[in-house]
Amino acid sequence: MVGLPMDGTKGARVKTQDRVLIMDAAYEAEVMADVVDRVFDTFPLDLAGKNVLVKPNILSGYAPEKAVTTHPVLVSAVVEKLRGAGARVMVGDNPGLHGYGRSEKAARIAGILQAAGDSFINLGGRPVRHTVSSRVIDHVMIASEVLSADLVINLPKLKTHGLTYFTGAVKNTFGYVVGGDKMRVHADAPTPVKFAEALVDIFSIRPPDLTIMDAVLAMEGNGPSSGAPRFVGKVLAGTNAVSLDAAAVTLVGKKPARIPHLRIAAQKGLGPIDMADIEINTPIVPVAGFKMPVTFLPGIMGVVLNRILSRRMNCTPEVVEAVCKQCGICVSHCPVNAMTMAEGEFPRADAAACIHCYCCQEMCPEHAIELTGRVMSFFRRRNIH
Ligand code: SF4
Ligand code: SF4
Repeated sequence: MVGLPMDGTKGARVKTQDRVLIMDAAYEAEVMADVVDRVFDTFPLDLAGKNVLVKPNILSGYAPEKAVTTHPVLVSAVVEKLRGAGARVMVGDNPGLHGYGRSEKAARIAGILQAAGDSFINLGGRPVRHTVSSRVIDHVMIASEVLSADLVINLPKLKTHGLTYFTGAVKNTFGYVVGGDKMRVHADAPTPVKFAEALVDIFSIRPPDLTIMDAVLAMEGNGPSSGAPRFVGKVLAGTNAVSLDAAAVTLVGKKPARIPHLRIAAQKGLGPIDMADIEINTPIVPVAGFKMPVTFLPGIMGVVLNRILSRRMNCTPEVVEAVCKQCGICVSHCPVNAMTMAEGEFPRADAAACIHCYCCQEMCPEHAIELTGRVMSFFRRRNIH
């Protein structure tokens, strides 16, 4: 797995797509420019005259230091590099919050609108219906630029996620899907495993040509928006998003096979997740005590519970009334109308109708939604997380 040179002189059985580069990095323009130079030296692309879509994670309107969105210093360094090589650059994402102007507003708060300059596009502006060969979904409304771009460069953030446990390179391509259609996918894929399958099928529509992951300030705990920033100090890069995610999960001390969408992607032959099959430029020293979301159960018992009993044992979202501002965002973003709010009251989740997608928690701007449940409480009481 480790210490193999990347000059092609050794490890001939390892294909180029199974290489991952891990570099020390910081949110400083010069440092990031050097990091990005090294990425393109290691994974060269023919960029001149190409239409290149750059896809950061712009989940919602959060400042960079919150560690919810891809840092603008990385976006800026990549845009400069691409322009310098003669590419036509587009930068955009479909934020979780839908509605007119949301994309620009979220990007402005995240600093990505400024980093992209006149390359910023509203990725939700020209959706097309795309048929998907999947057991879970038959189509998605997808940004047309995803299909028309000559090259797609993926800029995910290393974060945890209540439903998928980990959100990185593969999960970032869920942002190909436009606006409210994400809610439909959640409703059509109402269990963690079905959603993982849908996720892999959407990723397969257009696997990125290159992924550069922002893992300088990652997010641990109850991500992708309610967790805590955690300094990791790295940028990871590679042409295979699946093996890159496997390296990132290993970097935070977890086994890639515990992440359902990575397991499914590997089974479908989209990339290796066994670290023995991935060439990495440096030994991985796992980040000590990196916290996973409360839904991720540790140990052998956790493997069994998360895989077999995941639906029944999952948490139920509960609104913390002292924090809630009664904005209604959680209600409007629940894909199955399980979250409701009577006039003058606080929102409530119907545990029987809830599909445990945690979109409500993800979208709540006040972090007013906690996940509760018998099994989770058991683990929390014992401080296992
Ligand atoms: S999104 Fe958050 S703040 Fe808004 S109503 Fe729901 S729980 Fe309250
Ligand atoms: S209540 Fe929350 S977790 Fe349950 S289905 Fe609705 S958005 Fe998903």
